[in-house]
Amino acid sequence: MTPGQRAETRIAELGISDPQDIDIEAIAFDAGIQVEYENLIGCEATLVGFGSSAIATIKPSGGRGRERFSIAHELGHWDMHRGKSFQCRVDDPSNNLASDVKLEREADDFASHILIPSTLLTPIIKSFKLPSLKQIEEVADLFQTSTLATTIRLAKIDTLPVVMACYTGTKRRWHIAAPHTPKRWWLKEKLDEDSFAYDLLSRGTPCPAPRKQSADAWFDNDDAEEFEVLEQCYSPAQGQVLVILYLTDTEMFERGFDPSVGRRRY
Ligand SMILES: [Zn+2]
Repeated sequence: MTPGQRAETRIAELGISDPQDIDIEAIAFDAGIQVEYENLIGCEATLVGFGSSAIATIKPSGGRGRERFSIAHELGHWDMHRGKSFQCRVDDPSNNLASDVKLEREADDFASHILIPSTLLTPIIKSFKLPSLKQIEEVADLFQTSTLATTIRLAKIDTLPVVMACYTGTKRRWHIAAPHTPKRWWLKEKLDEDSFAYDLLSRGTPCPAPRKQSADAWFDNDDAEEFEVLEQCYSPAQGQVLVILYLTDTEMFERGFDPSVGRRRY
């Protein structure tokens, strides 16, 4: 089973069918974890196990969504990586997307699925068609998760034609795409000056709802200029911008292999 499947199985076993019933501290307690809050230095959460019980220590962050993510992340370690102790540097999945630490990413996957199970999320997303940021924030409120964790979950659920990326300054930090979107579209590594994300970062101009944009502003492919995508973006932290692109033109899904982009150029 994948980390996500393990988490969703737990939700099913507990008979949870309403986002408001995902009491992550109670679920952790049920698994033998006592949650404590303490001003940790150098990390945001730790897990120390003794036999069949453990203590998860969480650094108060001021954001309930982030604290819940930290608890769920430690629960993931306890569920999958028992016998080890952890000092985790993240209370949101963004940092681990930028790096590649296997156990940390597994714990993040577990956390995002236990906090936002597919069975509860999918019907909500279907009702929105192409969710705006405001609607994503409504979903985040409903599940008591951070906007960032909720946004990332949208790509992984694979029901939307979505590509998303986070840029620090103009440099790409990480990106993810819904698995069914074509790999041939090669996302730019540097933020294009024509993008709304660039406007947000450089001038503070918001773009909180999907707006038409030339695909050329986002993809390196020569034929990108033939297409339009929908772009919206927000700033999850100072100096950062997160962009959500919807590939609404079905022809973008039908274009074949492109030998002229990315690593294939060499
Ligand atoms: Zn961890």
